[in-house]
Amino acid sequence: MTDILRPEISALHAYHVPPASGFLKLDAMENPYDLPAELQAELGRRLATAPINRYPDPQGSGIKAGLKTALAIPDGFEVLLGNGSDEIIQLLAMLVMKPGATILSVEPSFVMYKMIATFCGLNYVGVPLDADDFSLDLDATLAAIQQHQPALVFLAYPNNPTGNAFDAKAIETIIEAAPGLVVVDEAYHAFAEDSFFSRLSRYPNLVVMRTLSKLGLAGLRLGFIVGSSQWITELDKLRLPYNINVLTQVATELALEHIDVLNGQAETLKLERASLFGALNALPGVTAFPSQANFILARVPDATRVFNELKTRKILIKNLHGGAKVLDNCLRFTVGRPEDNAVVIAALKEILQ
Ligand SMILES: *Cc1c(COP(=O)(O)O)cnc(C)c1O
Repeated sequence: MTDILRPEISALHAYHVPPASGFLKLDAMENPYDLPAELQAELGRRLATAPINRYPDPQGSGIKAGLKTALAIPDGFEVLLGNGSDEIIQLLAMLVMKPGATILSVEPSFVMYKMIATFCGLNYVGVPLDADDFSLDLDATLAAIQQHQPALVFLAYPNNPTGNAFDAKAIETIIEAAPGLVVVDEAYHAFAEDSFFSRLSRYPNLVVMRTLSKLGLAGLRLGFIVGSSQWITELDKLRLPYNINVLTQVATELALEHIDVLNGQAETLKLERASLFGALNALPGVTAFPSQANFILARVPDATRVFNELKTRKILIKNLHGGAKVLDNCLRFTVGRPEDNAVVIAALKEILQ
């Protein structure tokens, strides 16, 4: 086996998802709310008659039409659908995987940028964020772009796992300086204030990626990217036929017809985020960082102990300690329903007293 395997793949571990059965699950930025009962019933009716004996619409035209209205995709740009935005990150990497090509992002950020760079045999450069507030280090980023000439730059806006949205002017400067394509990853757009959709027409080397996962449809696996037809046409050549299955197409179309329901849930979560932020910061020794996403990063006195104590109490969050130095003793809490957040805060009070 070792003769034929790529050493960089042998050295990897498969993406680990911890078992969560019986847990209050606050580790993966899922929307905690169900669809209203009437919508669930309508979903059941539509799925019952979905033509699963046929291959799906290869273009996902119904979803694209729904996205255009529900999410205000700017006119004059094309959309490509992915089996989650993870698949689109992979397509982007495949698009540029010449020997020696580089993907650049910031650290810490979404782990799939680096993982997929490795899968595709690309160089990866991660420019450290400011250690105090996780803002972009613009000078260091521009210097790294100059030095490494990345084919692709990924910027999560807002960023995961830090929750902040980088300075938009700094991102614009990066787009202007980048020799290749810049992907602004707006996975958390529903909880944020700004979007780069409005800047697409200004920058030919900009594409904006989004997902419905954090908005409440994580189980459907539907991500998309918006850009000029030049980029989308090339990406579409790499997309496997029928990557969006029939059931996902039917369910997503229905959800997009009722986007106000999902947007309403996101608004509720934004309010909950504010109370969770206040409650975390009021705990002894805890510093919560401001967030424009549906999660909050917080530094605690001993993250691994707190994480394990929460786990004993059947509460699952994300422990970021042991990775990037700037995340020492940091935990990431997905914003839940008021009652979920109350359980977490009560447990933390016990653990930290
Ligand atoms: C969750 C997340 C994604 C992946 O979303 P899927 O569409 O579920 O694959 C992409 N980017 C960032 C920054 C994320 O946090």
